[in-house]
Amino acid sequence: MSAADEGPRGPVVIVGGGLAAATAAGTLREEGFAGPLVLLSAEQHLPYERPPLSKSYLAGDSAFEDAFVHPKEFYDSHDVTLRLGAPATGIDLDAHAVTVGDDRIGYARLLLATGSSARRLPLADDSGAGVAYLRTVEDSDRIKAALRPGRRVVILGGGWIGLEVAATARTAGCEVVVVEPLAQPLLRVLGPTLGGTFAALHRHHGVDVRTTTNVTAIERRPDDDAGTGAGPDHDTPAAVHLDDGTTLVADLLLVGIGASPNVELARNAGLTVEDGVLADARLRTSHPDVFVAGDLANALHPKLGRRLRVEHWDNAKGQGATAARNMLGHQEDYDRLPYFFTDQYDLGMEYVGHVGAGGYDELVVRGDPEEGVFTAFWVAGGRVLAAMHANDWDAADPIRAIVEAGASGQVDDGGVDLAALRDSRIPLDQLVT
Ligand code: NAP
Repeated sequence: MSAADEGPRGPVVIVGGGLAAATAAGTLREEGFAGPLVLLSAEQHLPYERPPLSKSYLAGDSAFEDAFVHPKEFYDSHDVTLRLGAPATGIDLDAHAVTVGDDRIGYARLLLATGSSARRLPLADDSGAGVAYLRTVEDSDRIKAALRPGRRVVILGGGWIGLEVAATARTAGCEVVVVEPLAQPLLRVLGPTLGGTFAALHRHHGVDVRTTTNVTAIERRPDDDAGTGAGPDHDTPAAVHLDDGTTLVADLLLVGIGASPNVELARNAGLTVEDGVLADARLRTSHPDVFVAGDLANALHPKLGRRLRVEHWDNAKGQGATAARNMLGHQEDYDRLPYFFTDQYDLGMEYVGHVGAGGYDELVVRGDPEEGVFTAFWVAGGRVLAAMHANDWDAADPIRAIVEAGASGQVDDGGVDLAALRDSRIPLDQLVT
């Protein structure tokens, strides 16, 4: 019998220094685990949450400490051995040991929460121009230093990083261009209608949103006189050539074209890796004593009936807690529906559920997206697969209930009454019992 069936007697080691990792450490202690607990982080900082890095922290409206998952005292008072700047370099699954530099640390249970890294754009990296990515607080600090009125900011990628930084940069008075290869920003997540809503929002605020546009070449512009002050890593202005024949000059060139899970450690150890580390619904990997949480986890989602890898804050937090409990011998499926939020200018939105690109046959919108207050529902086969609200905070709970009903087929095996959903005179909270 694996030790995993009994709960750990020996140490628990957590590899990773983000939200999933720190949440797991807290949950282990909350749940009464009294054994040795080691958290290994590659970063030099206390584990922190990343959403502010492209929003309030980048705007200078919140302090770094506000983003800490736990204050410094927590790790001492809960007897968590926090090793910062200590990336794990190897795992010996048979020996139940993790290598960190010259040390080997034994474990009874191991949690991998190594997160993801910004996907690189070789065309930019090889150009000799300054290039920024946004993943860490250091990245955010460097970008923040460049966001001054009149600065020309070119952002490659109309995803979450791209649009949130565009909003922050524009609010700081920068001249901002977003270059997106597809027909709308956020197209794969929201579809054309609401992708268009976000494009319109940014254009309304003066961002030049170039859709269906690709970069053909990037060059450094060392002689450009505006190119100072963006920080040591990206203070060389770039000339960005586009396939519409135009060239943009960037004092700050930000690449936000997605993220890749940090799977090397798991793969080298022999765990099953496939777009992340494969896991069952209880976040257990192909080795029974190794669990996974956060961006790294490609886990079976029991409500959706398929594996899913989610790169959002809520998932890191929720999976960190569930993985911790399961490491202690609980038998808890992680079945929370994916959720994320964004804040851009005066638009706050929350989204719950999951629908692939084009994986729906109807979009039901209540309210007027042009007015900035609305709800939207993605429907396939008569079920609501996902929903969002924009600036309609009373709708947050009902939209989750509606998607939960759709996911589980509670109401008449088809979720909500779609005719009623389409009728915006019927309040959302009357659609589910
Ligand atoms: P993302 O949301 O996946 O968006 C990447 C965007 O870049 C997509 O629109 C993508 O288009 C486009 N793209 C891909 N290759 C490109 C290229 N060569 N040139 C220009 N555009 C290109 O990724 P992200 O914005 O970089 O964010 C990184 C991760 O952090 C994501 O997982 C994201 O969910 C997460 N994040 C979340 C939030 C939030 O929840 N509010 C905020 C920030 C970051 P295609 O669809 O065609 O690939």
